[in-house]
Amino acid sequence: RSLLFFCLGQVVHGFGRGSKQLDIPTANFPEQVLDSLPADISTGIYSGWASVRSGAIHKMVSIGWNPYYKNVTKSMEIHIIHTFKEDFHGEILNVAIVGYLISEKNFDSLESLISAIQEAVI
Ligand code: ADP
Ligand code: MG
Repeated sequence: RSLLFFCLGQVVHGFGRGSKQLDIPTANFPEQVLDSLPADISTGIYSGWASVRSGAIHKMVSIGWNPYYKNVTKSMEIHIIHTFKEDFHGEILNVAIVGYLISEKNFDSLESLISAIQEAVI
C-alpha cells in the first residue's frame, strides 16, 4: 500500500530515553497528532523528511510504536539527521513519511536495536 503520511504538531517531551540511552535524540509528537495516522500503521522504522519551525528540510528516520520498549500506547520517535544547536521542544515539527525501512521486530538486545537504527540512517 502507498506510504505517504504527513504529521504536523508541537514537539513534546518523550520518555527521555532517545539521546540519553541511545545517543540518538528522538522528537516526540502529542498523542492527538499520532491519532491522525492510520490506526493500523505497521511497527517499524520509516524514512522521510522533517522540518522544524518551517526551517530547512532534513532527512529523518522514525520508529513507530517502539516494540523494543513494549509500548502499550502509540508513539512515534523522530530522529532528524542533522545536528541542531539547541533542543526544540515546543516548536512545530513537520514530518513527511515516505518509506518503510525495517519491518516490525522485537530486538533481543539494546545493541541490536541501535545497530539496526544506525544501518537505517546510513
Ligand atoms: P525526549 O524525547 O524525552 O525529550 P530525547 O532524548 O529523545 O528526549 O531528546 C529529544 C529532543 O532532542 C527533541 O525533542 C529535540 O528537542 C532534541 N533534538 C536535538 N537534535 C535532534 C535531532 N537531530 N533529532 C531529534 N530530536 C533532536
Ligand atoms: Mg524522544
